[in-house]
Amino acid sequence: MKLYSGISKLRQTFDLATDVPMATHTRLKVGGPADLLAQPETRKDLIDLLKAAQSASVPVTIVGGGCNLLVSDQGIRGLVVVTTQLKSGVRAETCPDKKVRLFIEAGERLSTVCSHAVRHGLTGLEFCAGIPGTIGGAVIMNAGTADQGIGGRVHSLDVLNLDTQDVYTLKKRDLVFSYRRLKLKNHLILGVTLTLSPGEPFQIRQTHNDILFRKQNTQPMDLPSAGCFFKNPDPDHPAGKLIEDAGLKGKTIRGAQVSPVHANYIVNLGHATCTDILALKQHIQQQVWDRYSIVLETEVITTGDGMKNE
Ligand SMILES: Cc1cc2nc3c(=O)[nH]c(=O)nc-3n(C[C@H](O)[C@H](O)[C@H](O)COP(=O)(O)OP(=O)(O)OC[C@H]3O[C@@H](n4cnc5c(N)ncnc54)[C@H](O)[C@@H]3O)c2cc1C
Repeated sequence: MKLYSGISKLRQTFDLATDVPMATHTRLKVGGPADLLAQPETRKDLIDLLKAAQSASVPVTIVGGGCNLLVSDQGIRGLVVVTTQLKSGVRAETCPDKKVRLFIEAGERLSTVCSHAVRHGLTGLEFCAGIPGTIGGAVIMNAGTADQGIGGRVHSLDVLNLDTQDVYTLKKRDLVFSYRRLKLKNHLILGVTLTLSPGEPFQIRQTHNDILFRKQNTQPMDLPSAGCFFKNPDPDHPAGKLIEDAGLKGKTIRGAQVSPVHANYIVNLGHATCTDILALKQHIQQQVWDRYSIVLETEVITTGDGMKNE
């Protein structure tokens, strides 16, 4: 009751979309309706909206490109804020030590940042070639490869504290990155500053293109997915190899399938629900446990009504 009066309060002040299927905002293309959804274009609009949501006691969920998200079939109660319109290109500044700082709003696509680095002969981000989503999402997920994450390139973050509504800058020393995660509870990233170095332009372009080419040939590109579904338990046991060795490539539960191309990808065959994907996820975890006594943890973030956040 309190939620619904809060929602109607917010709707009186802001132009918000209602009952928006989250399947249209996630790469997996599953997920029920969000009560309210906004795509603010400026920091000010975003902050005004979040302040109003807090005073109306409406819960907020942040979504970037939706590339690493699994949303429940019941959808998301409260307000979903999609950051993809919060962008203004890449601004660069050279430091006295010749390193280059890139300033980027949170909703800019990571691929735009990577292309900027390639065009300007800046090295340090080649390993991010081909990773979809926003720069804000990439930093929260510490996106990258098995042995590198974008956290290693972060100089500082402009953040909004969702509890106090204060805006401040967090320096590298304040940030704790781990494999596919940044520890940053109840904060929204507004802007990201990266540090890159000048390099050899031809080499940078070649490395970037080689990684893109390799991904196109080893990952399922034609069906919706969230990239690697499980974290690698350790470098000697990549999740994909464990799943493949358990004989699960191609395993299908209704609309969800273990990709025959890459076993750590769960793909949506076109009619998958979140329930199908969760059933397949549990089957994979059980089989890998039975065979190897290894627990597979999800890399994908689960959210929405009735979902346990892992
Ligand atoms: C085909 C494919 C290939 C992929 N390959 C890789 C890969 O090689 N390496 C890799 O690491 N990942 C990979 N991924 C996963 C995904 O691209 C990354 O995790 C990406 O960085 C997620 O960014 P996003 O903007 O889509 O975030 P979302 O999926 O929208 O959100 C992820 C999390 O970040 C939070 N979040 C998003 N933006 C903000 C913000 N501004 N402030 C605070 N919280 C925020 C969300 O609340 C959520 O908890 C792949 C995904 C796909 C579909």
